[in-house]
Amino acid sequence: MMQDFSNIVVHYAEIGLKAQNRGYFEKLLLRNIHRKLGDAYLAGRRESGQLTLALRADADRAAVCDTLGRIPGIAYFCPAWSIRADMEVFKATAIALLTGRTFTTFKVDTHRPHKQNPFKSMQVNRELGAAIWNAFPGKKVKLADPDVVVKLELTEKATYMSVDRYPGVGGLPTNARQRVVALISGGLDSPVAAYLMMKRGCEVELVHFQNQSQVTAAVEDKIVQLARQLARYQIHTRLHIVPFEDLQREIIKGVHATLRMLLYRRLMLDLAGRLAATRRAKFLVTGDSFSQVASQTYDNLAATYANCPMPVLAPLIGLDKREIVAIAEGIGTYAVSSQPYEDCCSFFVPKHPELHAQAVGLSRVAADLPLEPLIAQALAQTRVSEF
Ligand code: ATP
Ligand code: MG
Repeated sequence: MMQDFSNIVVHYAEIGLKAQNRGYFEKLLLRNIHRKLGDAYLAGRRESGQLTLALRADADRAAVCDTLGRIPGIAYFCPAWSIRADMEVFKATAIALLTGRTFTTFKVDTHRPHKQNPFKSMQVNRELGAAIWNAFPGKKVKLADPDVVVKLELTEKATYMSVDRYPGVGGLPTNARQRVVALISGGLDSPVAAYLMMKRGCEVELVHFQNQSQVTAAVEDKIVQLARQLARYQIHTRLHIVPFEDLQREIIKGVHATLRMLLYRRLMLDLAGRLAATRRAKFLVTGDSFSQVASQTYDNLAATYANCPMPVLAPLIGLDKREIVAIAEGIGTYAVSSQPYEDCCSFFVPKHPELHAQAVGLSRVAADLPLEPLIAQALAQTRVSEF
């Protein structure tokens, strides 16, 4: 019986393409891994195009793999055994690792990033492959898509063998200086948008606009649950809950029903932009998808984004609902988002809202409302939680 794996070999995604910046990205990823794994982790090394982690003997392996599977910048990772660079040890380890597994086809994949290593990849593949074939009668070598891959990594300082491979989220490591503020409703789309920015290496802060009069503990809990799900993909997560009732009441009072939704949205972007500026964030993020709902028509998006104090990124803009749902399921926000919830955007909004608003028209309507003192008050009363 083999002991638990001692190491994990982490293969990163796009970092490898960034020739001059590779060292910087590798260090960033290693630091993020270190912060997420905490105590489970003994040491991490950058070794020729990959990262290798040494685990503490008593580390919870399943929890470690679960966490690594959500750290942006990792393409895939392999639980591995650090072994002596000796052909007989390779054979004995491979046989022990495969014993008890169900497979019919296999291959040996030797990776030799350190080219001075005396072992030649082809020769190791052949000799080790033959030993496995002898030890497991009836099993066949298959180079394309075999049931198991015995992977051997010969780095400068160590040799690692692995047979399992877990997918990561891909993307780029979180860089805390690339902060963005994502507007999160209780809906399905916005958490996916926030996640996609995390995956591209941004630190995402969340802002939610709340109509206090409609909020029950359960509704607020839904936003907190979404924040918790998303927080698993980055190091620090801040959630800002902005009271929106007074501003909404002012809009309901002074704005024709067909335009209310767009005024809510414009105001949310305005407030989020002001908040983002104090957080040194340079972009806002929304869950908008082109023409999915009335507020997202060509004209309405143009009109609501037009006066925003900050550029707006909408990573879902070209995705279909089906594609968004698939991502939401994968990141564990679908079930939370599906709980019933009254979004404050739908208050006092007619069945047939404006579909072709103009930016100047919205600005004129907004300028006539006494919003400034209420905006200042809402920002002052914003509550912050950290995850
Ligand atoms: P979602 O599923 O994210 O709610 P949606 O397709 O239902 O999106 P809208 O409800 O029109 O579309 O909202 C569009 C975007 O505006 C949302 O994706 C989100 O970024 C932002 N938004 C809407 N309501 C709120 C809110 N109460 N607080 C914060 N952001 C919001
Ligand atoms: Mg919504």
